[in-house]
Amino acid sequence: MGLTHMQIKELLDENRAHECEGVGPGKVCVRIAAIAELPSRFGFFQIVAFYNNKDGKEHVAVVHGDVSGKENVPVRVHSECLTGDVLGSLRCDCRDQLETALRMIGQMEGGLLLYMRQEGRGIGLVNKIRAYGLQEHGYDTVEANLALGFRDDERDYSVAAHMLESLHVRSIRLITNNPRKIEDLTHLGIKVSGRIPHVMPVNEYNRFYLETKAVKSGHLIDLNGKERLAEQADYPFVEGMREEVLEVLLASQA
Ligand SMILES: [Zn+2]
Ligand SMILES: [Zn+2]
Repeated sequence: MGLTHMQIKELLDENRAHECEGVGPGKVCVRIAAIAELPSRFGFFQIVAFYNNKDGKEHVAVVHGDVSGKENVPVRVHSECLTGDVLGSLRCDCRDQLETALRMIGQMEGGLLLYMRQEGRGIGLVNKIRAYGLQEHGYDTVEANLALGFRDDERDYSVAAHMLESLHVRSIRLITNNPRKIEDLTHLGIKVSGRIPHVMPVNEYNRFYLETKAVKSGHLIDLNGKERLAEQADYPFVEGMREEVLEVLLASQA
């Protein structure tokens, strides 16, 4: 059972004229703008679309079950990746991470995924493709990273934190492998009551993570020997990954 008609009406009413001093250093304020049902291959969801006073981007929450006013709600924060999520790119694991999270949440009593519209670690699709191109032309990781820029995590989580508040989620269990995400959200006033490890099932494409050659000094290396960034700010864990590989991954983001 998701949000009832009454709850939806109340949420829309209270958000219609919502204004607040904003969340985080960027003083970001969002409003719930529209809510609809979203039956999907991963289960039955409702989709909540947000208006945003800062970046003009249309962030959404994909909600399963009744989460309003609830404690310990499982939450995944996913950053948009057009190439991975939609086109099935194998340069990253975004689609696997997204599908695994939605499938997991769809089978739970309640939970939600925040789909944040910050392509390419917040620098946009063109710059991300530009950086891919640079890597193909022999640029090393540092040079390509400069073109790609660094992700502004603080700004991302401010929007996410406000979205959770708008939905009246009282505390969350964050689906993540990244302890820093928990810290950042906590600083923004979100009560994180626990963590659910984000572990992806093994398939023919991610199997190479199982091999030590995928992990070198805490970095992910692609099949051409080039370092690659974890676009979701979470290193993906794959079922059956060896203990020592997991340890290296965890240490790299502590
Ligand atoms: Zn606000
Ligand atoms: Zn990606």
